[in-house]
Amino acid sequence: MSAHPSPARPRLLTGDTPTGSLHLGHFVGSLENRLQLQDEYDCYFLIANLHALTTRSQETADIRRDTLEIVKDWVSVGLDPRKATFFLQSEVPAIAELTWYFAMLLGYGRLMKNPTIKDEIRVKNLGDNYSFGFLMYPVGQVADILAFRPKVVPVGEDQVPHIEMTRELARRFNQVYCGVTGKTDDADHETAGGVFPVPEVKVGRVARLTGTDGKNKMSKSLGNAIFLSDDPKTVQKKCNKIFTGRQSATDPGVVEGNVLFEYHDAFNPDAQRVTQLKEQYQSGSIGDGQVKKELAEVLNAMLSPIREKRAQVSDSDVLAVLRDGTQRANDQAEKTLAMAKKACDFGFFHRTVAFKD
Ligand code: ATP
Ligand code: MG
Repeated sequence: MSAHPSPARPRLLTGDTPTGSLHLGHFVGSLENRLQLQDEYDCYFLIANLHALTTRSQETADIRRDTLEIVKDWVSVGLDPRKATFFLQSEVPAIAELTWYFAMLLGYGRLMKNPTIKDEIRVKNLGDNYSFGFLMYPVGQVADILAFRPKVVPVGEDQVPHIEMTRELARRFNQVYCGVTGKTDDADHETAGGVFPVPEVKVGRVARLTGTDGKNKMSKSLGNAIFLSDDPKTVQKKCNKIFTGRQSATDPGVVEGNVLFEYHDAFNPDAQRVTQLKEQYQSGSIGDGQVKKELAEVLNAMLSPIREKRAQVSDSDVLAVLRDGTQRANDQAEKTLAMAKKACDFGFFHRTVAFKD
């Protein structure tokens, strides 16, 4: 599978961390946008395997396994390595180098105000035990993005503060090292001589899908996810376990804020049936059981072609795609790094990154 994305198209960058395989939240939060935009944009899809070390530094075999699983998820939903560049963060050294430059332009206090960082510390029970590297990951993410100088970054709502930080650091770098003035519009930074564009964020159709616990964001790491690769029985079991807090099937049910209906709204193509289910639930004529049963049917119908496609992708296909994409990603990121180093007087020698057989 060799890819030839056209460099004339505007660029797009996004990615996933291999802390597990992909779930329904990823689908509505980011994958759908990628699918829609992969023809229009020169897309770079990154596996943030270094960032998986923030919570899994002692489970590197799992990171490797999930790296391959996520690429299978991408292909199975229809992302196409002949159109887009799929690549591995850990094999693009320019990203790590850019992280160093951006870290110097970011105040520690500003970093600690990032609400996603605070949220992750709380939800993942990290307490005071997070590593120094954990605090580096949002800066690393700025470098992941800006190394490709993209116009747009499609993500779920939880990532918006990281993209805001990315925009701030792009402006700051351009102002400090490229002579761009503070009055320059975001859209004009490159034409004003800046190395970096100020990229736009694009949030998915469902900005934040709730998990099966009915409470937190659906997350790979929180045990509240329905995965794209789950088999039909597992999907059914997970639907049956969804907690709504309803005491009895004959009580009038609450639809507002009920995760079962959040899922029906997001995934059930039959809007009329959803309206009917809501009316029956509110009047107390059906219980959670019926709503869950129909939800499992809807999800399994949606996931069936995804599962079939997934079964056709082997580990060696994935590795070939990643190698090819990571080489192209290096070509691009090296160009950006050279521009950035030149701008801040670190541009001494030229180099290329190439893989050996
Ligand atoms: P982790 O629990 O390890 O942080 P995650 O499930 O949050 O994993 P990420 O790899 O961090 O997954 O996120 C990949 C992309 O999917 C990001 O753009 C993120 O905003 C989006 N995303 C993740 N979970 C959801 C969700 N529940 N709803 C909408 N978008 C989501
Ligand atoms: Mg996350």
